[in-house]
Order: sequence, then structure tokens, then C-alpha cells
Amino acid sequence: MPDQDDLVFLDESPVPAPAGTPRHVWRVMIIDDDEDVHSTTTFALGSLEMQGRPLEFVHAYSAAQAREMLQYEHDIAVILLDVVMEQDDAGLHLVRHIREILKLSDVRIILRTGQPGYAPEIDAIRDFDINDYKTKSELTRIKLYTTVTAAIRSYEQIRKISDSRRGLNQIVHAGTELMALHGVRNFAAGVLSQAASLLGQQANGVLCVQDCPDDDCSALEVLAAMGSLHNLGSRDPLSSAAHVVQGMAQAVAQRRNVYTGDALALYFAGKSSRVFVAWLLMPRPPTELEDRLLEVFCANVAVGLDNVELLSHLHKAAFYDSLSKLPNRTRLIEILDATLSGPARDDATLSLVDLDHFAETNDALGHEFGDTLLVAVANRLQTSLGQQLTVARIGGDIFGVLGDASQVHPEAILELFQRPFSIEGQDVRLSATLGLVRLCEHDGNGSDALKDADIALKRAKSQQRAGHFYFTRSMGVEIRERVRMMHALRKAYAQNELFVMYQPQMDLLTRRPIGAEALLRWRTPDGKFVSPDRFIPIAEYSGLIIEIGETVMRTALRELVALRAAGHQDFTMSVNVSQVQFRHPQFLDMLRRALADTGAPPEYVELEITESMAMEEPNLLIEMLAQIKQTGVTIAIDDFGTGFSSLSYLQRLQIDRLKIDRAFVTEITGSARGSSIAEMVIQLGQNLGLTVIAEGVEDERQAQILYALGCPLAQGFLFARPMAADTLDEWLANDALQGAA
Ligand code: C2E
Ligand code: CA
Ligand code: CA
Repeated sequence: MPDQDDLVFLDESPVPAPAGTPRHVWRVMIIDDDEDVHSTTTFALGSLEMQGRPLEFVHAYSAAQAREMLQYEHDIAVILLDVVMEQDDAGLHLVRHIREILKLSDVRIILRTGQPGYAPEIDAIRDFDINDYKTKSELTRIKLYTTVTAAIRSYEQIRKISDSRRGLNQIVHAGTELMALHGVRNFAAGVLSQAASLLGQQANGVLCVQDCPDDDCSALEVLAAMGSLHNLGSRDPLSSAAHVVQGMAQAVAQRRNVYTGDALALYFAGKSSRVFVAWLLMPRPPTELEDRLLEVFCANVAVGLDNVELLSHLHKAAFYDSLSKLPNRTRLIEILDATLSGPARDDATLSLVDLDHFAETNDALGHEFGDTLLVAVANRLQTSLGQQLTVARIGGDIFGVLGDASQVHPEAILELFQRPFSIEGQDVRLSATLGLVRLCEHDGNGSDALKDADIALKRAKSQQRAGHFYFTRSMGVEIRERVRMMHALRKAYAQNELFVMYQPQMDLLTRRPIGAEALLRWRTPDGKFVSPDRFIPIAEYSGLIIEIGETVMRTALRELVALRAAGHQDFTMSVNVSQVQFRHPQFLDMLRRALADTGAPPEYVELEITESMAMEEPNLLIEMLAQIKQTGVTIAIDDFGTGFSSLSYLQRLQIDRLKIDRAFVTEITGSARGSSIAEMVIQLGQNLGLTVIAEGVEDERQAQILYALGCPLAQGFLFARPMAADTLDEWLANDALQGAA
């Protein structure tokens, strides 16, 4: 393909060039308005050959004509230019045009003039890079011969320099282009095409990596295969191409580029134990200049390949899970983004797969075992649901599966957990919970889709183990509502819309108040009350309960101190403490400081914790209660009867009181056998030496029955509704006595 040679390089081969190719002649342009000059010049120089290349003449008879011709005439080595043509200095203007407008800097220019008097300024000769200035009479045949020979030689030098500069530029450019490619394989393909273009060749070649350079080349891994050799990129390719392997082995052995007659073996000296080597078809040997350029190119590329390898490792670490080798959360979001903006969106479903009780399995059987189990799950997800799925690991025991709805649906996925996983000869059964999103019903980005799937998963987990849930818009609405409420609550707290009310607790025998429960209230500016059953969970969820809880505690303790000052000495203040508060590392400090700052007597302070909280993390709770008891406060278990605390467990908890849940109080007047749970709780309390209080007592019959069953204390609308502090003060001073028996 000789026509490609002239893209970049001058062929220096002494072999005579095929006819008709301008590349293998030296082109000399004669610009003169005197026809005689043309014929004498061609006659004088016609036989000149340099390095086996004859001259070829191009003729122009005026500066204007030359201007025009130079637009399309290429590779002119020398211009013999008459100074005086249309104007006295037409030649000089043409030189300026050639250098400054046409930007032809390589071409050598020899000025000729008829009369010595028209010699141009020395400045012009320098500025316009004019090779020589001769009067026509000076230019005898021999002189012309030597002048043109010198000009051609210097043209050749200049071309070499600018070719190598161009080549170097191309290498630098190639380097930047290559670095923009992601992944070793893309980079390798880029290297092949850049090397080919540097040589003016088509990219027919392979690029391989060899792990151990001292080996024979049997362990070559093909990174890229292009053009007529692209087949070498697929299945056990190199074994069928012995001479390619041999050629590359030669380059590796000699640690340099080798030309083998029909191809070039390129050697890239990687810094580590790896070696990169390429095989590029090339019908002619590289020129000396190409050899040097290739060396620079290969050295550059070797550094680049090392970097790309490093980058792709980093890329892997950033986008892939090291244990399962699956895409990680970040990568899944990218894939989701792509899916959402493509045609696959309409049928695609994302499912999160959360392994149930994996933490326990992990703890019980060891982390290594757990890892193996996770890999087994990953494999099963990847191989059993069908092709073209994305399976990602997005958390410890949570996987993401993205694909067509016909493959990604609960039945198919849960089916995979019907068979046990066999790990180290052991059969392990796992179940999973799924949260799914249909992407067509989704209008956010990938990250939002993942969030929605997570919402669906949480819902599935809270409602039914080993089940699934599809995300629906209403769920989104609910979440948004919760977020809205969270902001509203924060604002309400800052603006003092929250306050504490007190509900008296009574002695059923004397019908006198023995204490009160502090209950939080939220009244919005328009006078509406938001139920604590709604906002307390949000305060817990957002963590705001820590601050709010402390405020309630301090307010209630101050009220206790005030009541004592008003003469109500035997009065206990009960404060609700949520699980989130209780678990907070500063809870004890907070309690101690609140007691100290308000001066409230701890023995008249009671904390209400729920039974469900008592059920979780028994050891932590036992430890915690022991420390709380040291402050002197007492502890009641709220909503008692709704959980399933065992007797032995209750015995280990340092508690003082059980609070019978309102549901069981309501029950005792309902059915004949309904009293049983309340009765059991009362007896349990008696057996454990705990006092018992009933809550939600609304009518006199309930009070009577409870008292008859042995419950001495009660709280409820029958006696008093929750009331503000000043109302409580009044109520205690007056009304409380009226109710007393
Ligand atoms: P809880 O601790 O079980 O509080 C008793 C609830 O029963 C209170 O509802 C009270 O107003 C209501 N109640 C009292 N007597 C009767 C009655 O005779 N009949 C009926 N039907 N209800 C009665 P409230 O104030 O809406 O509180 C609901 C829940 O909010 C509380 O249940 C408690 O779990 C939580 N809570 C309230 N204040 C706080 C607080 O300051 N901190 C924390 N952590 N939770 C609080
Ligand atoms: Ca309570
Ligand atoms: Ca309760």
C-alpha cells in the first residue's frame, strides 16, 4: 500500500520506486516567466538522480499560476524561483505567500534573477528561509546541479526531522488517547491501531501479555486482536498460529522490536514481571526513523500498560466486590442508570435479595464459612436465573438482581433457596426476603431505584419473613410523608410546640393519686394535636428522640420537684424511655445529670421501658438496668403482656413494676375468660415481688375487678386524663380528694 506511506514517512529505501508514485522522485518546481529558463533547467538537471531517485519537474510561468498550483501540488522539494515576473518583486511576494500563508516550511527555495541589482535584502533571505540566491548567469549547469543537490539534501534532512517530530507528536497524542480508554483490553486495541497508524499501516495484529518473561511464549494471553488477525482473539487462538508466537517469542527473547519479513513484533517492557508483546502485519521493513519512533512509542506504551493495569485494578476495587467478584453497589447504580435510559427499562425489574438470619449463621459457623456461603449464593443467583442478568452484591448479605421481569420475579428467585447450599460437605438451608422495583414504574435515577427497592425490602422484612414486596408509589408517598413529618417535628421541637402532660396514677384502695406518667404532646400552631403514636416513632427513627427525651425527662423531674415543694411528698413521676434513648451511650450520663440538675429524688422517679425492648439483647438490658438501678430510680415494664418474657428472664432483670397493657384491661369486662391474662400478670408480679399497675382503666367495673384480682394501682380516663402541669397542680389540690373513697 504505497499510497499510505506518504501519510507520514519518507521512504528511504534505495529500491527504485514503482512508476507513477510521486513519493519516489524528488519534485522540483520551476517558476519563471521565461520559457527558455524552463527548458535549459530541465536539460541541465534532467539526468540528476539522488539516492536512486530521479527528479520530476513541475512548471509555473507566473507567480499567480504558481500560487494556484501550490494549493494542490505536494511534496515539492525545491522551488527554482524567478524574482522578477509580473512585478519586479513578484518572486519575493510569492516566497512570503509560500511560507506564511501556505505554511510550506519544508520546501527549499532558490531565487534566481536576471540582473544582479535585484538582490533581495539579507533579511528577506533569512526571514523567508531562502536557500540560495543566484543570478541566472551564475547558474552554470554545474553550479545549478550542485545548488539543487544541496537543496534536496537539506530538504531531505528537514523532512526527516519534521517527520520524526510529527511521529513524536503522534506518539504523545496516542498516549493521551490511550489513557482515556478504560480497561486493559481497550487500551491494548488502542495500542495496535496507534502503532499501525504510526507506520501508515492497517491495524492487522494482536497484542498479548505474558506473565513470566523468562518462559517460552506458551503462556501468552491475547488482550486484543484486530483486522485480519481478529480471529486470534477467540478460543485457543495462538496455538494455530505458530509463526506469530515464534515471532513474538523472538522479540521477548531479544527484548526489542523485531521485523520478521511480513510482520513486526513489538516488545513493550513492562515494569513488573509481565511483558507485553504485539504482532503487527507489515509488508515492508520499518525505516530507520520508524524504528526509532517505535522504540519511543513502545516505551511509552509499556508505562501506559502498567498504569492501565493498575487503573483497572483500582477500577475493579471501586466497582466490584472482592469476595464474590460481582459488581458492587456503585457499579449496580451505574448499570441501573444505563438501563433506565435505555429500551430495556420497560421490562426490567430490580430485586434485592436479603438473606434471612445470615448474621447468626455467620456467627455460628465462622466467617470463612459465611464467605463461602455468600459466594455459593452469588453463583447460584448468577447461573440459575438466566443469561443477561446483572447480579451484584450491594451489602454484606444483600444481593441485587437486575434483568427482564420474566426472569427476575419472586417465584424464580425464592425457588433458588428451596435447595440447600452445600458447603464443605455440609448442607445449609437459607431463606431470603426480596424487595422489588419494576423500572418502568420508576421515575428517578439508578440510585433512587435502589432506594425504592430497599424500601420494599424493609417492608417485606417487617411484614413477613421469607417473603417479598414490590415497591409501589404509595410506599414512596409514605416515605416522603415520613420525611416531611421528620422535618416538621424538628421544627416543632425548636419552636416549642412540644410539651408534657401528666396523667395521674391511683391507689385503687384509697383512690388517692400516688404519682403521674409524663406524656409528650405535640400541638401544631393551628391547634391540632399529633398523636405520640405517630410522632414518637419518627423521633426515634430520626434520632431526635435523644434530645426530645432529655427535655421530657428534665421537664418531668422539675414538675416532680415542684409538686414536692407544694406538699405532695409521696408522689412518683413516671417517664417513658424509648429503646433508642436507652441504647444511646450517653443515656446514663443524661439521667444522672438530669437528676442532679433538678434535684429530683431518684427513688420517686420511675422509668417506663416497653416489654418488647426487654426482649431484645437480654444481656445488654440486664447490664444496663443494673447500672440504672444504681442511680436510685425505679423501673417499670410498660405494655406488659404483649411480649413473651419468660419468667426466668424476668427474674434476672432488676425491675420494680409491671404495667398491664390497656388491651388486657379492656378485655376483663368483655368475655368471661378474658380476665386470664391480666390475672396472670398480677400473679406473676406477686410471685416476683413486683408491684403491678393497670393502665387504660376506663370504667368502675374494670377498677373493681382489677382490685379484686390483687392489682393495687391503676391509671386511666376513669380517674383523670393526661393534663397540663398547672391543671395537675390544681387537680391534686382539689379534685383528687373528691374521688377518694
Ligand atoms: P403509653 O406509654 O402506653 O402511654 C399510655 C397511653 O394511653 C397514652 O397515650 C395515654 O394518653 C393513653 N391512655 C391513658 N389512659 C387511657 C384510657 O383510659 N383509655 C385510653 N383509651 N387511653 C388511655 P398517648 O399519650 O397517646 O401516648 C401514646 C404512646 O406514646 C405512649 O404509650 C408511649 O409509648 C408514647 N409516648 C408518649 N409520651 C412519650 C415520651 O415522653 N417518651 C417516649 N419515649 N414515649 C412517649
Ligand atoms: Ca408509658
Ligand atoms: Ca403503656
